Amino acid sequence: MPATTLDQLVSLCKRRGFVFPSSEIYGGLQGVFDWGPLGVELKNNIISSWWRTNVYERDDMEGLDAAILMNRLTWRYSGHEETFNDPLVDCRDCKSRWRADHIRGRCPNCGSTNLTEPRPFNMMFKTAVGPVADADSFAYLRPETAQGIFVNFGNVLATSSRKLPFGIAQVGKAFRNEINPRNFLFRVREFEQMEIEYFVMPGTEDEWHQRWLEDRLAWWESIGIPRARIKIYDVPPDELAHYSKRTFDLMYDYPTLGYEEVEGIASRTDYDLGSHSRDQETLNLTARANPNRDSTARLTYYDPESRRHIVPFVIEPSAGVGRCFLAVLAEAYDEQMVKAPPSERVRAVADALEAFLKSVGRNEKLASETRDALVERGQAILAGLPETMPQIETLLAMPGADQIDIGKKLRGQAQGPIDEYFRTVLHLKPHLAPIRVAVFPLKRNHEGLVAMARELRAAIQSGSSFRTVYDDTGAIGKLYRRQDEIGTPYCVTVDFQSLEDGTVTVRDRDTMQQVRIPASEVRAYVTGRG
Ligand code: ATP
Repeated sequence: MPATTLDQLVSLCKRRGFVFPSSEIYGGLQGVFDWGPLGVELKNNIISSWWRTNVYERDDMEGLDAAILMNRLTWRYSGHEETFNDPLVDCRDCKSRWRADHIRGRCPNCGSTNLTEPRPFNMMFKTAVGPVADADSFAYLRPETAQGIFVNFGNVLATSSRKLPFGIAQVGKAFRNEINPRNFLFRVREFEQMEIEYFVMPGTEDEWHQRWLEDRLAWWESIGIPRARIKIYDVPPDELAHYSKRTFDLMYDYPTLGYEEVEGIASRTDYDLGSHSRDQETLNLTARANPNRDSTARLTYYDPESRRHIVPFVIEPSAGVGRCFLAVLAEAYDEQMVKAPPSERVRAVADALEAFLKSVGRNEKLASETRDALVERGQAILAGLPETMPQIETLLAMPGADQIDIGKKLRGQAQGPIDEYFRTVLHLKPHLAPIRVAVFPLKRNHEGLVAMARELRAAIQSGSSFRTVYDDTGAIGKLYRRQDEIGTPYCVTVDFQSLEDGTVTVRDRDTMQQVRIPASEVRAYVTGRG
């Protein structure tokens, strides 16, 4: 079963070092996160999978890595200086600030409806460029990677001799001064995008838009997000961005959040290339491009058939790496009952949970929303026992739970059976797993076992594009559980028989079955399986 709450993922990411709050020792920075040792591996694997599918496996794509800082005029003619705004409201009572379209007329902090009228707030960060900080010497941190592609269109065309249709792919950082960053990695101020601008002959854009929709859904499926878990939102005309002819938003069913955008696939007409071109009056643009007196180029394509310079139309599939990371984790997450706990232990946990919930209900110090959230979550867990037992950890990590004294008793009752009868496992696709193989010696103080395990690790790692680790910091059962929790598909154990006949056991994460094979075949075995 996929994750049921965002808290489960937050807690896993924290516990196992996937994600850290930025500059945490100084109190952090809101809406900014760092990728820990496992997070960076998973993130890089997501990005390589995207790059492989969209650049290497197609015959109509080039890659690009444009700079984050760009000439400021880029953002004038793209329309961002004028229109990249969110509606900002202030709460007159508690002085907090909110994005008007996220709060339905009521301050989420104090409940007041005494709010200011919404006013536009531009989300681009500015930074000074050069030693003299005057009014003109600034640049924006790019709020999307797309514009780096558009302004390089002519360069790529001239150096790659591509014919339409073709596309340019790019992965990189983007920055948005979100009014209310929230929901962990979902809405942050610094994030990465994986963007494609696909250039097509005018008139063929609808067909390409549909094809990209299919191609993108196939990629999501390949990284473990079934099609049934994504809703396609055909953005209605009154919600479309000004440059868009039609947009499909791919909405993933996030735990706690529900369906939210993970990728947008927009049909952007000739708006972008047109807006960045000079001599626009000669281009027969269909879009209402921004009049441009500064550009030195005409971003056109010479069509040998019609012998005309035309401005290609654009299809843009744009996905956020962080939102993708969260979706992949949510989908892979599983708290599995390995063996049914005896009924008296389940009863004891149920009693402790009931007592905890009663105590929550009676606690006057908790805000009513905090209380309701705890009770609602707790009741759901109670109704689902014993399968839901591991969710007690998440319940106890929720806001307010630490103020309930008998929370400790509940933890005490639940911890034993959770450790004994359950495992948390990430069913990640092997090509995404932060670690593909973990090698253990059966005993860490046996020289022969340790030496063979270390050698085997090095042999599997050598020349492969995935990560292999050695671990001897616990008993084998515990090591299996730890690797399950971070999604390692294969655990290899070197035991006494290995020293005699050179075979080792390979344990499969999902089935927990073991096979015994020659150590020399492990590399091929784990490589051949994705
Ligand atoms: P939203 O409506 O949720 O603010 P958007 O429509 O502004 O998103 P786009 O401009 O289409 O987003 O950006 C493309 C992708 O970049 C989004 O689908 C999302 O995955 C990602 N993205 C955008 N803003 C953020 C953010 N603040 N934090 C994390 N990812 C983001």
